[in-house]
Amino acid sequence: MIDCGFSLKKIESKLDKMDVNPHDIDTILVTHHHSDHSKSAFRASKKWGCNLISNAETARRLEWGGVSRLKIFSELERIEAGVDISLLPVPVPHDDAENVAVIACGKNGKRAAVVTDLGEVTTELISHLKKCDHISIEANYDHDRLMRGGYPDSLKRRVSGRGGHLSNYQTAKALQEIVHPGLRSIVLCHLSESNNLPHIAESEVLMGICESFNGSLRISKQDGPEFSNYIGQSDPQRIVA
Ligand SMILES: [Zn+2]
Ligand SMILES: [Zn+2]
Repeated sequence: MIDCGFSLKKIESKLDKMDVNPHDIDTILVTHHHSDHSKSAFRASKKWGCNLISNAETARRLEWGGVSRLKIFSELERIEAGVDISLLPVPVPHDDAENVAVIACGKNGKRAAVVTDLGEVTTELISHLKKCDHISIEANYDHDRLMRGGYPDSLKRRVSGRGGHLSNYQTAKALQEIVHPGLRSIVLCHLSESNNLPHIAESEVLMGICESFNGSLRISKQDGPEFSNYIGQSDPQRIVA
């Protein structure tokens, strides 16, 4: 499991909807200490009997000093996280946190990435994402909505700064560079409830990649685990009618 920021009850209910038994989870990797990523990680690892892994700064900020099931990783160190999966943490810029994107690699060579909470994509990250079959990446805010919205100016600057979050436009631009024939699916995640809307995120990304990308593009909903599509969802019978 990558990150564990909902309440334990909510996470267990989401896992249940996905037919995942939490006791089958080997490892929880926490990308950074912000509570929307870490809140229930420690309690979940105790309750489910799984390992907890993070980098040293995240463990320090979460005061995990005496935790026995904790393993500390370094940037770009490949971690064996179960019998058939390894994880590669790639550092990304995020204010006041040592955050990482995570590339999961299966024994069959297939790779999936989870990329959230970063002010900009780095060249290093792009080169790893170009080898992935699946990418979950944040499309956090629509620039105009953020600027016109009710956040104080200091917060607007922080969200849109180098250590903030990716806007829909930034995500579209990054994906334009990343898309390759082996990329089968993209999920947009970590959408701001105040400064974004699913159809805006999806249309901005589609505009950037529609000519080069043939896979599926979906949105991860806050109240998921289901994904949704807003545009591009074809329903031939309805079109005929
Ligand atoms: Zn976050
Ligand atoms: Zn964060």
